[in-house]
Amino acid sequence: MILMVTGSGMKPSFLVKVINLAHIDINNVSIESIESSGKLSRDITISVLRLDKIHPVISGNKWFKLKYYLQDAKAKGYNSILTFGGAFSNHIAATAFAASSQQLYSIGIIRGGEPGSWSHTLLEAKANGMQLYFVSREEYNVLKRAGDSTMLKKFGNNYTIPEGGYGALGMKGAADILKIVDTSFFTHIACAVGTGTTIAGIIKAALPQQHIIGISAMKNNTGLSAEISALLQVDSLPADFTLNHDYHFGGYAKYTTELLCWMNDFFSASRIPLDFVYTAKAMYGIMDMVAKDYFPPGSKILMIHTGGLQGNLSTKPGLLKF
Ligand SMILES: *Cc1c(COP(=O)(O)O)cnc(C)c1O
Repeated sequence: MILMVTGSGMKPSFLVKVINLAHIDINNVSIESIESSGKLSRDITISVLRLDKIHPVISGNKWFKLKYYLQDAKAKGYNSILTFGGAFSNHIAATAFAASSQQLYSIGIIRGGEPGSWSHTLLEAKANGMQLYFVSREEYNVLKRAGDSTMLKKFGNNYTIPEGGYGALGMKGAADILKIVDTSFFTHIACAVGTGTTIAGIIKAALPQQHIIGISAMKNNTGLSAEISALLQVDSLPADFTLNHDYHFGGYAKYTTELLCWMNDFFSASRIPLDFVYTAKAMYGIMDMVAKDYFPPGSKILMIHTGGLQGNLSTKPGLLKF
């Protein structure tokens, strides 16, 4: 098996930028109601938990998913983090930033060969000191399942964070999202879903009377339910959780002109920016479900804005107005 790597040696001599985490400001988080901007009726309201306002790079759910992994790495004496993601992965950008802010080295295993021109995500990760290794899809799939096995030792002695932060510590961090503000008023809590780690934390932390809705950002991700159940350590998903697969707009990280136009309109009306990979699809889905009378009258819906706005930099210039 051939591993394609960029850079020279195994133990890189990269620079770690030290960034003060005081920049991560939980106090910036707000809940904004958009009830007056849409065609809502039947006494239904939609509110947005603006986790995107925490920080421009490590925004939204990523900081929550990473924090206990970083703590664990430090407690176990590691000085370097290794994780996995695609060329547009918010998780890669966020891990690079979070690791450097904690004076930890970071290594990113990137799916697919090295692109001719690097995405904003990759440049950002590199600027934050992450050492990037580009591997084929096959190699990637083998490595990401390697866990802590010796297979990853060729990259050095690193603390491994699973792809997307999927795992018990990621879920534990995501559960903290519902601890920063009082959300007991809401009847429904909705969120975009990738690996399912965030929604698993939300399911854990929600009140018994609240219904949780996850909107998958992927097309036909049939394994997702099982992955969420595995995190929650249950045989079947709780009855008060619904996983929706209808709003992928062609697939993961795909977009249509219609979606981008809708994001522009939504921004004009609400002043809330959404990202095309996750939050736009989730918000569109929720509003469409409202229009189709999915929600009972009087529903108070809280949509968690999971951030990811840096991803918009990879859309064609000029299409998005914000
Ligand atoms: C990563 C990400 C998600 C998906 O989170 P999971 O925990 O993997 O389900 C949702 N929204 C945004 C903006 C993200 O960057």
